[in-house]
Amino acid sequence: MVKELLELSALELGAAIKTGDISVTEATETALETMAEREGDLNCFITAAEQAIDRAKALQAGVRDAESPLYGVPMALKDNICTKGLKTCCASKILGDFAPPYDAAAAERLTAAGTVLLGKLNMDEFAMGSTTETSFYGPTRNPWDTSRVSGGSSGGAAAAVAARECFFALGSDTGGSIRQPASYCGVTGMKPTYGTVSRYGLIAYASSLDQIGPIARTAADCAAVLDAIRGKDKRDATSLDLPAGSLLAGLTGDIRGMRIGLPAECFADGLHPQVSAAVHAAADVLKDRGAQVETFPFPLMEYMVPTYYILACAEASSNLSRFDGVKYGWRAPEYEDLTDLYCRTRTEGFGAEVKRRILLGAFVLSSGYYDAYYKKALQVRALIKEAFDRAFQRYDLLLTPVSPTTAPALGESLSEALKMYLSDIYTVSVNLSGLSALSMPCGFDEKGLPIGAQLIGPALGDGTVLNAAHAFQLSTDYHKRSPYGKEAD
Ligand code: GLN
Repeated sequence: MVKELLELSALELGAAIKTGDISVTEATETALETMAEREGDLNCFITAAEQAIDRAKALQAGVRDAESPLYGVPMALKDNICTKGLKTCCASKILGDFAPPYDAAAAERLTAAGTVLLGKLNMDEFAMGSTTETSFYGPTRNPWDTSRVSGGSSGGAAAAVAARECFFALGSDTGGSIRQPASYCGVTGMKPTYGTVSRYGLIAYASSLDQIGPIARTAADCAAVLDAIRGKDKRDATSLDLPAGSLLAGLTGDIRGMRIGLPAECFADGLHPQVSAAVHAAADVLKDRGAQVETFPFPLMEYMVPTYYILACAEASSNLSRFDGVKYGWRAPEYEDLTDLYCRTRTEGFGAEVKRRILLGAFVLSSGYYDAYYKKALQVRALIKEAFDRAFQRYDLLLTPVSPTTAPALGESLSEALKMYLSDIYTVSVNLSGLSALSMPCGFDEKGLPIGAQLIGPALGDGTVLNAAHAFQLSTDYHKRSPYGKEAD
């Protein structure tokens, strides 16, 4: 029973809870047992929520009146999403044991939907990284091969979902941090259109790029989670007043006549041949379901990573100035005066990658270099957005790889920061342009590591992206494979 329960998707579990076949307590206990069994190997969680069982018992009493399809489903949140009274530290030493005085809007909405919070998930420090190795709490290992990284920065979230430690998770995506770990761990992850989910209570990395989204086992689960958390929130001026209607209800699986473009430059040098083959095979599956697929030239690929890193670091250097040892979390134990307090707290409290980005960001914003770097990057951002606008005049969706390779070995990326940055080539432009995009499992390499394909839609194309992914998952079973060798039927 326990294993069968673990193989259910979030929606299947929600349905079984509703019919009374499984209780909320049973589901929660099973997830907690799995956590206890696998955390020693994986390190997906930074903090466990103490009250999960009490919450499950309380929810069980309300099952009959439950409206959300996710009612009673155990889930977890990335550690940059604020939870009232529960430690939220962005995997950084500088936040210490900071327990926020309020919930993030997305956390609030999941509570209202009746989900059970299991805890807070490991990540790269302040969401800066592609491997979860910059976490102060040590890396999260990949459940498919524990000598490999889980991806980043939402590595804890992707690994926890893949390892069945929770039924879905929320991550954040500034330049690929939902999609890339989802691809390395063989799960489904969605970065919704900028503005879909309120950023209130999301600890900011780069505010014009950050977006919260789901990591789950299926596209249908992602749709249900987004239905629960999206929409206008007056505490985030950039949140959108979305048209009524549910994303889940829109999943027909019918993609006949859908026009899908493959940007030729996304399949050029630097892409691992097995990743390329798996994404092309995914294109064939979509074609078999009636989509029209063609390759087209897409310019500006070489500018995407530099533009992203200039803008993301500039925004980060400003956002992270609030961590000074006075307002939140940790403070250096010894200091001489106020300036020394700031200096020592930030020197000792931030890790190397975060410091590198604050320095880079402060540099590109400095008066001597602002025009040459920051302003230029904003101009290129506008050109990238125009290139996507043109592509979406011809295509409903674009299909690309998520990452040039499968999950690297632990330790490989940290020694070569530039190489790590370059591996973000297929994901960052989506954030620069405010688009919707999803990563879905589409195969395995010769080592048995998962490969992901990315579907990119225009702004507010979330429903189209999810429907194409749902159609793909109706024809394939990659998303059902488990790193523990158990295949669901
Ligand atoms: N890997 C990218 C970075 O380090 C993306 C991070 C993210 O999306 N949070 O900035």
